[in-house]
Amino acid sequence: MSEPLIVPPTSEPVPVRKLIAELSDEEATTLRLLMQVCWVCFEDKDLIIDYGLDGVRGVLCTNCKSGVVAFKDSVENLRKAIKYLNR
Ligand SMILES: [Zn+2]
Repeated sequence: MSEPLIVPPTSEPVPVRKLIAELSDEEATTLRLLMQVCWVCFEDKDLIIDYGLDGVRGVLCTNCKSGVVAFKDSVENLRKAIKYLNR
């Protein structure tokens, strides 16, 4: 997977994932919207609008959307999967 890069005006290119980790939640959301990438994996292909119970939740690629659906949109189910993967 090739990760998009951001080139700040006065320094070396920075991986988007690293940059987003240093931003506030609001800044990261704005950056994701501007870059039009999946909010989970930062890929820019096969993007779809993801809807939650209260309307638009974000933008996901079809792979990440499939994962969210497979875990029934449940944070608890995803935590269990992470715990399982970390065994
Ligand atoms: Zn994705």
